[in-house]
Amino acid sequence: MTFDDQEHLERDPLIDQILISSAEIQRRVAELGREISVEYRETVPILVSILKGGVVFHADLMRRLSVLHEIDFLSVSSYEGGTQSTGVVKILKDLGNSITGRDVLLVEDIVDTGLTLQYLREILNARHPNSLKVCTLLNKVDARQVDVPLEYVGFDIPNEFVIGYGLDYDEKYRHLPFIGVMKG
Ligand code: 5GP
Repeated sequence: MTFDDQEHLERDPLIDQILISSAEIQRRVAELGREISVEYRETVPILVSILKGGVVFHADLMRRLSVLHEIDFLSVSSYEGGTQSTGVVKILKDLGNSITGRDVLLVEDIVDTGLTLQYLREILNARHPNSLKVCTLLNKVDARQVDVPLEYVGFDIPNEFVIGYGLDYDEKYRHLPFIGVMKG
């Protein structure tokens, strides 16, 4: 049995509200898939996803691409001993293959301060890809501390802590098909 958005909301008293419904997410992911397929029509890009938050978006997005592509994963710890992003990212699991000379699309769940992404861009650019672009599902515009280029953005969202569709609260809630806000 699968739950729809409303059933999840009714069953879990800790979820305050749905910010972006599963239907809205799926519509937008399909649009992004079409745009990305046009941009990469003459190459075979590598879609790099950041574990763990990015995997749900990654899995949906890749099935909306009409161009051949490869996938790879990076696991990083972005927060060092607190809830504040420091931008100092430790690579816990590196990419499986070389990205030198390749067209890389970094698939992110959310860009908040931008510090993690800035650091990741430096690490990946040092490996000399042919191109490096970013596709993030969510963009917390008002939380930005550094200016990082975002080529594809699913949704701009307010500066609130969100869960679902890959994003966790204490490692849980990643399975929710929508983006929700916890009760504060
Ligand atoms: P940044 O370095 O941009 O501040 O942090 C990005 C990372 O912080 C994201 O990849 C994600 O892991 C975490 N993060 C930022 N905002 C949220 C949020 O609202 N909810 C959740 N679950 N994680 C967040």
